[in-house]
This record gives sequence, structure tokens and C-alpha cells, in this order.
Amino acid sequence: MVLPNKNVESSEQNEGLKEKKSPMASKIACSSSNQQSKGRCHSQMKGLKRQDYLPWNVYFMAMAQVSAQRSKDPNTQVGAVVVKPAQKIIVSTGYNGFPRGVNDDLFPWNRDENWLDSKYPYVAHAELNAIVAARSDLTGCEIYVTLFPCNECAKIIIQSGIAKLYYLEDKYAQEPNFIASKKMLDAAGIKYESLNNVEVAVKWEV
Ligand SMILES: [Zn+2]
Repeated sequence: MVLPNKNVESSEQNEGLKEKKSPMASKIACSSSNQQSKGRCHSQMKGLKRQDYLPWNVYFMAMAQVSAQRSKDPNTQVGAVVVKPAQKIIVSTGYNGFPRGVNDDLFPWNRDENWLDSKYPYVAHAELNAIVAARSDLTGCEIYVTLFPCNECAKIIIQSGIAKLYYLEDKYAQEPNFIASKKMLDAAGIKYESLNNVEVAVKWEV
């Protein structure tokens, strides 16, 4: 939940309050008749700002989804965005992939082979990549992730000083790695919140 910050100008505060009340109705590039009529209605009134712009939470999660689409993993694409909540600034982004210099055409993307021949020893998760890329103090920052963090990423999130995470999917919630993740986040006082209906579609041509 975004709390209004005293350092932010008043329109930002109002926006933060509005986010709390309104549901995350947010299929990006969605064209529901309700949205269209709302847009038309306001565009006919001179001097008023658009009313159906993206709330901050949806904007940042949409950015995380776009980041995920950079991933070369054939099975799981995850994106992460680190944000300074007071200023609404994106500090960094990340997605899952092999470390620099680890050739993603030569190293395996398998899940089912023996460990050394699978992707697991080599892949760097989106949260790790985003946090390392930031190269600055992340105390009090928030992270937006498209998949709930595993236990290894939970450790990195906690140690980085990040105070809150927003996530889209939590499909491995029953697996030990993710149960351990929540145990650690709870113990460390890191809040987590689901934003479960943000969807973004990017269309592009080669
Ligand atoms: Zn992870």
C-alpha cells in the first residue's frame, strides 16, 4: 500500500490515496468500453487532466513485465523493477539470465537434466540482477517482481535494505524454497503485496 509522503507534492499525495481506494484494474492496452467512454468524457472537458492514466503501482509492475520479456529462458521469464517510493523513481531493472560472459547459446536452459547440465547452477534471477545493477543504497526501496521471490532472492532483498515487494504470480507457493522465502521475509519485516491483475502486451516487428 502506498502511503502519501510529505515530501511529495500534493497531486502525488492525492494520487497515492486514489491508488488505495481503486482496484488494480489494469490490463495495459486494454480497450474496455468503460475505459473508452471514460476517456472520451474527460477529453471533451477542456482543461482537465486525463483520469484513466496508470496508477504508479500498475506502471511499475508493467515495467517489470516488459523487463521479463528480455529473458531468454524458454520456460520462465521473470522481471524485476526497484523503485524509490518517495520520489517514484526507477532505480534499476532486471530479468533472469546467465551472468555476463556466460554464453547463453552454449550453457544449458534445461530443467530436467542432471544439475550441472541444467540451467539452475548458472541462471541469475531477476531480483539479483536488478539489485546488483542498482549499485546504490536501496534502504527503504520497493521491488516489483512478476514472480514471488525464491529463498535465495529473499536473502538478497533483505540484505539490500528493500522494505517492500509487490508480486504478480505466486505459483510455487507450496514449494519449500518459497515457504522458506516467506518465513525469512516475515522474520525480517519485509512486507509483500499481490498485484494480481496487471497485464502488459508488447507488439513489435523484427
Ligand atoms: Zn530467486
